[in-house]
Amino acid sequence: MADSLTDKFGLNLLLHKLDNETHHCFECKKSTIHEQFRLPWKRKSVIEHQNIHVVEIREEVVCFKCRNCELTSLKRNLWNDHNDDFGDEQGRGNNMSRNADVCFSYPAGFSNEEELLIERIKEFLNADQLDYLYEVLANKSQGMKASAIIGFRSLFEHFFNITGTPSARDRFVSTCSKKRDGTTKTKNNFLYKLMWLQENGLLSRLQQDAIENMMRQGNVAVHRMESTDVNLNKAVEILYHLTVSYRMFDANQTK
Ligand SMILES: [Zn+2]
Repeated sequence: MADSLTDKFGLNLLLHKLDNETHHCFECKKSTIHEQFRLPWKRKSVIEHQNIHVVEIREEVVCFKCRNCELTSLKRNLWNDHNDDFGDEQGRGNNMSRNADVCFSYPAGFSNEEELLIERIKEFLNADQLDYLYEVLANKSQGMKASAIIGFRSLFEHFFNITGTPSARDRFVSTCSKKRDGTTKTKNNFLYKLMWLQENGLLSRLQQDAIENMMRQGNVAVHRMESTDVNLNKAVEILYHLTVSYRMFDANQTK
């Protein structure tokens, strides 16, 4: 049946209908029901890093249609063979039930975690800043990691800018830079802003280190015009925790 339709319509791919799924719609800007169709997955060899490495991947493309606004979107999921633990039950290494290693969405589609972040962070952003967040997440969802990292950095800086009084912030970063660098000229370093958030109990030390590390890698990538394999889901997760902590902090601050 599938073969005869393929011949008849000249298609080499047929869509397989899956159960409807509820997730974020870029047009509706909220969770909506989507019809879901999958193209058969494929195995590919991809050349990476200036033609040096050949990596084996599995690729799957899923097509979604929003029931509310009819926006059609595509999601491309990639699994790297070398990230497989034990393969599937038959040991064939084709297990695609784990989360994909790389996802691209066209137009942008947000994960449940990102949607949760949008909901929580809203009250601390104005309309322009919220649009900015959408842009950052859109960059992320289309694999533009370097741009997304710079975007995340500004979102973390935003929380620095709204925590405590300007003079308390300035005093803190000046003291930190004086102590570590012997000068206050470096007081605007991103690290000291993160330390301020940690000082106020808004970030744990581990989170501070993870974000600092990520930004350093992102910065190197931007300056060298290289791509980076930073895990941006971690940035989403930490920004979400920061938002939740800030909400409690803010409630105490205004008591
Ligand atoms: Zn929609």
